[in-house]
Amino acid sequence: MFCMSVQVKFNVQIERIAPTKLYPFERFFRGFDEIPAIRELFGRATKRVLHNLKVEFLSARFGYMGTSDVDGHLLISSNHLKNGDFDTVYLDLVHELCHVNQFRKGKPLFYPKLSYVDAPSEIEAYRFTVKEGRRIGLTDAQLLDYLKMEWISKKEHLRLARHVGVAGKPNVKRGHRRHLQK
Ligand SMILES: [Zn+2]
Repeated sequence: MFCMSVQVKFNVQIERIAPTKLYPFERFFRGFDEIPAIRELFGRATKRVLHNLKVEFLSARFGYMGTSDVDGHLLISSNHLKNGDFDTVYLDLVHELCHVNQFRKGKPLFYPKLSYVDAPSEIEAYRFTVKEGRRIGLTDAQLLDYLKMEWISKKEHLRLARHVGVAGKPNVKRGHRRHLQK
């Protein structure tokens, strides 16, 4: 039934295929092609990849950022883009660009049978992000905060930190991304 683009019932017509509005990445995010970590990811294709990359902005309660496993475009919460602190938004972009590269290489982005923190795609992307986080001056305590997301448990948080080589005791009082939730 969903393969039909227009469906008619009760004297109404419903167009079942909604268009997705995509924007060029470079319209919103500039200078990434000069970041050594990003050049390390895409090599000589860096400029071309970023030039061709598309972004979809989502409103409402869509979490933070994601990468489509259908065509490799970025999904970004406009709320997070507006309200997230600069370092977090920057690191989230670095993280997603790592997924973009995984997609380009034909690697899976999602592992439905594994916990989020054990998915090889996430471990690789978080390791990469942590490395860049250290370069911009974040401490292990701040990185540990960065790794805390509402949808993972305390145990998973610690496991993720271990997977990516971040040490320390989590700050239980202040979840890094908690302030984004209203
Ligand atoms: Zn990810």
